[in-house]
Amino acid sequence: MSTSAITTRCSIVGGGPGGMMLGYLLARAGVDVVVLEKHADFLRDFRGDTIHPSTLELMRELGLLDAFLRLPHRKVERLVGEIGKVRVTMAEFTRLSSACKFIAFMPQWDFLDFLADRGRRYAGFHLMMNAEATDLIERGGQVVGVQANTRSGVIEVSADLVIGADGRHSVMRERAGLKVEDLGAPMDVLWMRLSRRPDDYAAVFGHIETGGILIMLDRGDYWQCAYVIRKGSAEEVMKGDIGDFRRTILALSPWLGERVNELKSWDDVKLLTVALDRLSQWYRPGLLCIGDAAHAMSPIGGVGINLAIQDAVAAANILAEPLRAGAVTVDDLARVQRRRQWPTWVTQAFQRTIQTRVIGPLLAGTAQPKLPFAVKLLNRFPALRAIPARFIGIGVRPEHIRTKEAAGA
Ligand SMILES: Cc1cc2nc3c(=O)[nH]c(=O)nc-3n(C[C@H](O)[C@H](O)[C@H](O)COP(=O)(O)OP(=O)(O)OC[C@H]3O[C@@H](n4cnc5c(N)ncnc54)[C@H](O)[C@@H]3O)c2cc1C
Repeated sequence: MSTSAITTRCSIVGGGPGGMMLGYLLARAGVDVVVLEKHADFLRDFRGDTIHPSTLELMRELGLLDAFLRLPHRKVERLVGEIGKVRVTMAEFTRLSSACKFIAFMPQWDFLDFLADRGRRYAGFHLMMNAEATDLIERGGQVVGVQANTRSGVIEVSADLVIGADGRHSVMRERAGLKVEDLGAPMDVLWMRLSRRPDDYAAVFGHIETGGILIMLDRGDYWQCAYVIRKGSAEEVMKGDIGDFRRTILALSPWLGERVNELKSWDDVKLLTVALDRLSQWYRPGLLCIGDAAHAMSPIGGVGINLAIQDAVAAANILAEPLRAGAVTVDDLARVQRRRQWPTWVTQAFQRTIQTRVIGPLLAGTAQPKLPFAVKLLNRFPALRAIPARFIGIGVRPEHIRTKEAAGA
């Protein structure tokens, strides 16, 4: 196979929410950017479809909100759960002060396609699909580019800065030798679809029972269901009879009735492994990791996409000018980590607490699902539901767009 070479200011590895948002913002600010995405399109299922009020606020700041909300989406104004037999509203986004008081559920491929489409309107935005980064190119201890396999051969992308936005199994952070601190996750998730009827409850719905947790996301004509299992137990579970599995799901949500028969075989069930980790240092000279590549988030609270996007905005705010000038320093990269490290830690601490106090014991079958005191308060004083709504919907230390659209970009 042939090897070709291109040169850019910034090469972003990974076209997920973090990478695409950063690519868009840098191109808008007049920085030449190449985004490498290993898949042929964004049409992959099970990647989280939550567009948070904070992201909608960013869209508003960018002047894109109206166009964005014209894409098909469902508005979710509250998160509802059932703990044992008790139904509780955990978060109410209508109580937020932001412009959009809801989570927009939108297939992630529509969101990423939207960013790609808007990015292509800038001369400096180059998105390469089917381009899988395999290694970093280094010179004298400095990362100076990235090597990728494409359908037409190997490509070497020389860049002043490489961004690792390649998710929780990041190859870039591994090649860079960045130290990963594993925080542990007691669970993995089995994903499946079950049809949804117009008269079904409309919300994000979680049911917690001893030994089982089932989360159901309303996706219009179907429910995206996540059944939480003990870490590493997927093989054992999926060796069993699919009929037993159907009965387990039915026991957690009896109202599904015969719809569980839509799970005909294990082919209808997909495993997603969960990780919770973070890098001690997010950067090396010439390289910065953001999003899950810097800190893999657990699905708890559905906040990982939000964090990846917030990292992207902070990175653009801090790096656009030095990138335009061709003078990014290690101090600039350290500033991005300093800005985003604290929100990450706080959010991961919350996820860890839920993992160890609630999910771990429930999955081990050692705890009866009881209403935690905080949840009892939420039930009693609805105004308090603004607190989880803010944590989930806006997050800690929300970012704002500080970059300007460059003239002639
Ligand atoms: C089961 C599960 C459910 C979740 N549900 C939610 C949810 O509902 N809401 C939420 O906010 N978060 C959710 N999360 C967390 C969320 O998925 C992540 O935090 C978020 O996607 C991180 O975004 P990212 O851009 O950093 O990485 P990713 O979304 O992982 O994107 C990385 C991109 O890089 C590409 N890539 C990988 N390697 C390479 C390579 N070598 N070369 C080129 N491209 C590459 C991938 O194809 C991918 O497109 C969930 C996580 C799990 C595990």
